Amino acid sequence: MAVLRNRAVFLDRDGVLNEERGDYTWRPNDFRVLPDVPGALRRLKAEGYHLIVVTNQAGVAKGLYGMDDVRACHEKLQATCGGLIDAFYVAPGHPSVSESLSRKPGSLLLEKAMARFGLDPAQSWMVGDRGRDIAAGHRAGVRTIRVGKPDPQDGPAADYYAGSLEEAARLIVAAGTSGKSASRPGADRDGWTA
Ligand SMILES: [Mg+2]
Repeated sequence: MAVLRNRAVFLDRDGVLNEERGDYTWRPNDFRVLPDVPGALRRLKAEGYHLIVVTNQAGVAKGLYGMDDVRACHEKLQATCGGLIDAFYVAPGHPSVSESLSRKPGSLLLEKAMARFGLDPAQSWMVGDRGRDIAAGHRAGVRTIRVGKPDPQDGPAADYYAGSLEEAARLIVAAGTSGKSASRPGADRDGWTA
Protein backbone atom coordinates (compact mmCIF):
# COMPACT_ATOMS: atom_id res chain seq x y z
CA MET A 1 0.00 0.00 0.00
CA ALA A 2 1.22 3.47 -0.84
CA VAL A 3 2.32 5.74 1.95
CA LEU A 4 -0.19 8.53 2.31
CA ARG A 5 1.71 11.51 3.59
CA ASN A 6 0.54 14.48 1.57
CA ARG A 7 -2.39 16.66 2.46
CA ALA A 8 -4.93 18.61 0.47
CA VAL A 9 -7.81 20.99 0.65
CA PHE A 10 -10.58 19.86 -1.68
CA LEU A 11 -12.49 22.84 -2.96
CA ASP A 12 -16.00 23.03 -4.29
CA ARG A 13 -16.14 25.63 -7.02
CA ASP A 14 -19.38 27.63 -7.39
CA GLY A 15 -20.14 29.50 -4.17
CA VAL A 16 -16.70 28.88 -2.70
CA LEU A 17 -14.16 30.01 -5.31
CA ASN A 18 -16.42 31.97 -7.65
CA GLU A 19 -19.68 33.78 -7.21
CA GLU A 20 -22.77 31.53 -6.99
CA ARG A 21 -25.13 32.94 -9.62
CA GLY A 22 -28.04 30.64 -8.93
CA ASP A 23 -27.57 29.17 -12.39
CA TYR A 24 -24.92 27.24 -14.29
CA THR A 25 -21.76 29.26 -14.75
CA TRP A 26 -19.92 28.30 -17.91
CA ARG A 27 -19.03 31.52 -19.69
CA PRO A 28 -15.71 32.96 -18.50
CA ASN A 29 -17.32 36.43 -18.47
CA ASP A 30 -19.84 35.19 -15.87
CA PHE A 31 -17.15 33.41 -13.86
CA ARG A 32 -16.23 35.89 -11.12
CA VAL A 33 -13.58 34.78 -8.64
CA LEU A 34 -14.52 35.90 -5.11
CA PRO A 35 -12.19 38.64 -3.87
CA ASP A 36 -10.75 36.80 -0.86
CA VAL A 37 -9.95 33.64 -2.82
CA PRO A 38 -6.44 34.30 -4.22
CA GLY A 39 -5.14 35.25 -0.77
CA ALA A 40 -6.80 32.27 0.91
CA LEU A 41 -5.34 29.87 -1.64
CA ARG A 42 -1.87 31.38 -1.22
CA ARG A 43 -2.14 30.88 2.53
CA LEU A 44 -3.17 27.24 2.23
CA LYS A 45 -0.48 26.55 -0.35
CA ALA A 46 2.13 28.07 1.96
CA GLU A 47 1.00 25.59 4.64
CA GLY A 48 1.76 22.72 2.29
CA TYR A 49 -1.72 21.80 1.13
CA HIS A 50 -2.42 20.54 -2.35
CA LEU A 51 -5.34 22.52 -3.75
CA ILE A 52 -7.81 20.38 -5.64
CA VAL A 53 -11.07 21.53 -7.16
CA VAL A 54 -13.90 18.98 -7.16
CA THR A 55 -16.96 20.23 -9.01
CA ASN A 56 -20.28 18.90 -10.24
CA GLN A 57 -21.02 20.26 -13.71
CA ALA A 58 -24.29 18.62 -14.62
CA GLY A 59 -24.83 21.19 -17.35
CA VAL A 60 -22.45 19.10 -19.46
CA ALA A 61 -24.67 16.02 -19.25
CA LYS A 62 -27.69 18.20 -19.94
CA GLY A 63 -26.05 19.55 -23.09
CA LEU A 64 -26.03 23.16 -21.91
CA TYR A 65 -22.28 23.55 -22.35
CA GLY A 66 -19.17 21.48 -22.96
CA MET A 67 -15.97 20.53 -21.20
CA ASP A 68 -14.12 23.17 -23.23
CA ASP A 69 -16.28 25.79 -21.53
CA VAL A 70 -15.52 24.28 -18.13
CA ARG A 71 -11.79 24.37 -18.92
CA ALA A 72 -12.00 27.99 -20.04
CA CYS A 73 -13.50 28.96 -16.66
CA HIS A 74 -10.77 27.01 -14.87
CA GLU A 75 -8.10 28.77 -16.89
CA LYS A 76 -9.55 32.07 -15.76
CA LEU A 77 -9.47 30.86 -12.16
CA GLN A 78 -5.84 29.78 -12.49
CA ALA A 79 -4.90 33.09 -14.10
CA THR A 80 -6.56 34.96 -11.22
CA CYS A 81 -4.91 32.79 -8.55
CA GLY A 82 -1.43 32.56 -9.99
CA GLY A 83 -1.81 28.93 -11.07
CA LEU A 84 -1.95 27.66 -7.48
CA ILE A 85 -4.52 24.94 -8.08
CA ASP A 86 -2.94 21.50 -8.51
CA ALA A 87 -5.82 19.71 -10.21
CA PHE A 88 -9.40 20.01 -11.34
CA TYR A 89 -11.76 17.06 -11.07
CA VAL A 90 -15.09 17.50 -12.81
CA ALA A 91 -18.23 15.34 -12.56
CA PRO A 92 -20.17 16.11 -15.75
CA GLY A 93 -23.07 13.74 -15.06
CA HIS A 94 -26.59 14.22 -13.79
CA PRO A 95 -29.08 11.61 -12.56
CA SER A 96 -31.60 12.78 -15.15
CA VAL A 97 -29.16 11.63 -17.84
CA SER A 98 -27.04 8.96 -16.19
CA GLU A 99 -25.97 7.92 -12.71
CA SER A 100 -22.42 8.74 -11.67
CA LEU A 101 -20.24 7.79 -8.72
CA SER A 102 -18.15 10.88 -9.41
CA ARG A 103 -20.94 13.33 -8.79
CA LYS A 104 -20.97 14.65 -5.21
CA PRO A 105 -22.29 13.41 -2.74
CA GLY A 106 -20.27 10.55 -4.22
CA SER A 107 -16.63 10.62 -3.19
CA LEU A 108 -14.98 9.11 -6.25
CA LEU A 109 -13.40 12.39 -7.40
CA LEU A 110 -11.78 12.88 -4.01
CA GLU A 111 -10.59 9.28 -3.94
CA LYS A 112 -9.03 9.59 -7.39
CA ALA A 113 -7.08 12.63 -6.24
CA MET A 114 -6.03 10.87 -3.04
CA ALA A 115 -4.56 8.01 -5.05
CA ARG A 116 -2.84 10.33 -7.54
CA PHE A 117 -1.24 12.63 -4.98
CA GLY A 118 -0.75 10.18 -2.09
CA LEU A 119 -3.05 12.16 0.18
CA ASP A 120 -3.73 11.33 3.80
CA PRO A 121 -7.47 11.87 4.43
CA ALA A 122 -6.85 12.51 8.14
CA GLN A 123 -4.79 15.57 7.19
CA SER A 124 -7.08 16.75 4.40
CA TRP A 125 -10.17 18.92 4.18
CA MET A 126 -13.23 19.52 2.03
CA VAL A 127 -14.63 23.04 1.72
CA GLY A 128 -18.06 23.39 0.10
CA ASP A 129 -21.27 25.37 0.29
CA ARG A 130 -23.79 22.55 -0.11
CA GLY A 131 -24.75 19.46 1.84
CA ARG A 132 -23.57 17.21 -0.97
CA ASP A 133 -20.06 18.65 -0.66
CA ILE A 134 -20.03 17.86 3.04
CA ALA A 135 -21.41 14.36 2.41
CA ALA A 136 -18.67 13.68 -0.13
CA GLY A 137 -16.07 14.85 2.38
CA HIS A 138 -17.46 12.61 5.10
CA ARG A 139 -17.38 9.63 2.75
CA ALA A 140 -13.77 10.33 1.85
CA GLY A 141 -12.79 10.60 5.53
CA VAL A 142 -11.64 14.22 5.45
CA ARG A 143 -12.65 17.07 7.73
CA THR A 144 -15.33 19.36 6.36
CA ILE A 145 -16.05 23.07 6.35
CA ARG A 146 -19.27 24.49 5.01
CA VAL A 147 -19.15 28.02 3.67
CA GLY A 148 -22.45 29.32 4.96
CA LYS A 149 -24.71 28.52 7.87
CA PRO A 150 -25.90 25.13 9.12
CA ASP A 151 -28.88 23.93 7.07
CA PRO A 152 -30.55 20.76 8.38
CA GLN A 153 -32.65 20.67 5.18
CA ASP A 154 -29.54 20.28 3.02
CA GLY A 155 -27.40 17.31 3.86
CA PRO A 156 -25.30 16.36 6.87
CA ALA A 157 -23.73 18.79 9.33
CA ALA A 158 -20.19 19.92 8.61
CA ASP A 159 -17.37 19.76 11.13
CA TYR A 160 -16.96 23.55 10.92
CA TYR A 161 -18.72 26.53 9.35
CA ALA A 162 -17.14 29.62 7.84
CA GLY A 163 -18.33 32.79 6.17
CA SER A 164 -15.84 32.62 3.32
CA LEU A 165 -12.89 30.67 1.98
CA GLU A 166 -10.61 33.13 3.75
CA GLU A 167 -12.18 32.21 7.06
CA ALA A 168 -12.07 28.52 6.19
CA ALA A 169 -8.36 28.86 5.47
CA ARG A 170 -7.82 30.43 8.88
CA LEU A 171 -9.63 27.50 10.50
CA ILE A 172 -7.54 24.98 8.61
CA VAL A 173 -4.28 26.68 9.50
CA ALA A 174 -5.35 26.94 13.16
CA ALA A 175 -6.28 23.23 13.25
CA GLY A 176 -2.87 22.53 11.73
CA THR A 177 -1.66 18.98 11.85
CA SER A 178 -3.77 17.91 14.78
CA GLY A 179 -5.42 15.21 12.67
CA LYS A 180 -9.01 14.19 12.21
CA SER A 181 -9.17 12.46 15.59
CA ALA A 182 -8.84 15.85 17.24
CA SER A 183 -12.03 17.14 15.65
CA ARG A 184 -15.54 16.60 16.88
CA PRO A 185 -17.62 16.19 13.73
CA GLY A 186 -20.81 18.15 13.75
CA ALA A 187 -20.30 19.40 17.29
CA ASP A 188 -17.46 21.88 17.06
CA ARG A 189 -18.78 25.42 16.94
CA ASP A 190 -15.40 27.11 17.27
CA GLY A 191 -15.47 27.95 13.61
CA TRP A 192 -19.00 29.23 13.57
CA THR A 193 -19.59 32.89 12.88
CA ALA A 194 -23.15 34.13 12.54
MG1 LIG B 1 -21.13 25.06 -4.64
